[in-house]
Amino acid sequence: MKIAIVGAGAMGSRFGYMLHKAGNDVVLVDGWPQHVENINQQGLIVDDNGVETVAKIPAMFPEDCHEVPELIILFTKSMGLKKMLQDIQPMLGQNTKVLCLLNGLGHSETLKEYVPAENILMGVTLWTAGLQGPGHVVLSGDGNIEIQNVDPKSQAAAKEVCDVLTQAGLKAQYSENVIFSIWRKACVNGTLNSSCAILDCNIKEFGELSEAGSLIRKIIQEFAAISKTDGVILDVEEVAQGIEAIYDPDQAGAHYPSMHQDLVQNHRLTEIDYINGYVARKGQELGIATPYNQLLTTLVHAKEELLIK
Ligand code: NAD
Repeated sequence: MKIAIVGAGAMGSRFGYMLHKAGNDVVLVDGWPQHVENINQQGLIVDDNGVETVAKIPAMFPEDCHEVPELIILFTKSMGLKKMLQDIQPMLGQNTKVLCLLNGLGHSETLKEYVPAENILMGVTLWTAGLQGPGHVVLSGDGNIEIQNVDPKSQAAAKEVCDVLTQAGLKAQYSENVIFSIWRKACVNGTLNSSCAILDCNIKEFGELSEAGSLIRKIIQEFAAISKTDGVILDVEEVAQGIEAIYDPDQAGAHYPSMHQDLVQNHRLTEIDYINGYVARKGQELGIATPYNQLLTTLVHAKEELLIK
């Protein structure tokens, strides 16, 4: 399949590499000059579970892409999505399917401004990836993907994309309720990412705090109040216990969530406005109290101001 990975950072590079290796015609589209340059000059360097390989995948800037692919996989950061969708207009053919796998909430509304509903596929993934530097991606661990079409007419297209991803080892499953999974994952990010970034700790250290149990339940209650207005019923206790299960160092305990990596370690802006910030904003619009999510959003923005010069 002819596939463009749009937003080819850590996750885009993982997906691009695995799909290329499986024989698909892949292009990496990204706006980071050093990254694009390195990939084109030396190939994408991939540390694949400790084994280093070089993948010869073409990389391009969004403004230089004029070919129309069959599938676009979006992997920008949330705050880069809108601008990227504006920049890739020439790539959006009448039948180009656009799969969004970003973390965070509200992305389907943004996509609908630029892509016809019948071409939008929404998904959620448990794969991970990291960048060692421009043009150098590090892959470890296992993952999977859930995907669903936004328009009921496009179920066959969603299933075909699942097959292409699965053939590349990415383990994609068709979901009957992907919006539930997106909200559920947003709860994990909305409790652990923002808290660990503010407190400068890893997941295990956060879980050991005497207030951790009460804090995550207060945050999730607010997520559940807003998700209900989107037709998604979250069981607060089930979600909380799912989060508590990963405090174990054999699970994700030793991990510093991506918001900690972005903000504290790399001094980059975070996706807070699309996680806790989304819940706080919707709460204000709908007259639903969301004080915990409002405060977390304010504190993360304050820390961005302190750390990003
Ligand atoms: P990323 O930060 O690696 O890449 C996003 C964009 O930032 C790319 O355009 C990339 O080229 C650019 N970029 C990265 N490092 C840069 C630097 N040092 N200087 C300048 N530009 C830089 O983002 P990601 O981790 O691939 O995440 C993409 C989406 O997938 C996000 O919504 C994220 O929450 C989600 N996600 C990430 C992971 C993960 O393990 N990384 C897992 C699941 C979901």
